Amino acid sequence: MQEKLDRYLTLLLEANARFNLTAIRNPEGIRVRHFEDSLRLLEAASFPGKRVLDAGSGAGFPGLVLKIAEPSIRLTLLDATGKKVRFLQSVCDELGFSDGVLCVHGRAEELGHDSDFRERYDIVTARGVAALPALCEVCLPFVKTGGVFLAMKETPEVYPGAKRFGGEQDEAFAYTLSDGRSHAVCRFRKVTATPAAFPRSWGKIKADG
Ligand code: SAH
Repeated sequence: MQEKLDRYLTLLLEANARFNLTAIRNPEGIRVRHFEDSLRLLEAASFPGKRVLDAGSGAGFPGLVLKIAEPSIRLTLLDATGKKVRFLQSVCDELGFSDGVLCVHGRAEELGHDSDFRERYDIVTARGVAALPALCEVCLPFVKTGGVFLAMKETPEVYPGAKRFGGEQDEAFAYTLSDGRSHAVCRFRKVTATPAAFPRSWGKIKADG
């Protein structure tokens, strides 16, 4: 795992020199705030053998780090920005993940209505993409009944409205990184299928506050 993380770090630093991929640019910062943070998610659910979708993966967090640590997952990396998806695909090719990973350029609120993706995943993850209500609306539709949605946040947040989308919130999982920062995972169990009306368009979701 360490060898693959090191290779990924090198590719990130190289790509960051060409275009703005992540705001954190020093290797130690990337190791702690991207790699270590993503790895802590493994404590929030059982990942081996699961179908996982990372929504708004950006430069690959947490999804690609999870795949490196737990290669048995079947992973979809989704992002709305083409250059990020091309970067993700190039890292997957370099790391030999061409089979178990699908890199998709698209918008979560649109893909959530596509039967190839809707209600298909055991675990959906997201970090730094949107506020919790919007995130629940676009992410819960991807989760199978019985699966979980894991939202990575700075502090534990509660969103009872997730019920509209078939989600029921568990106790948050709070943790501290080795640089002293506290983060939290908000965990939602998918208890019933998401009604067909969701997710709505991004404009409607935003207008809802
Ligand atoms: N998860 C990464 C990136 C966070 S930045 C990390 O934690 O480092 C947010 C990312 O979400 C951006 O790359 C942006 O392109 C993507 N994004 C924002 N809205 C989206 C949507 N509706 N569907 C898919 N991707 C989205």
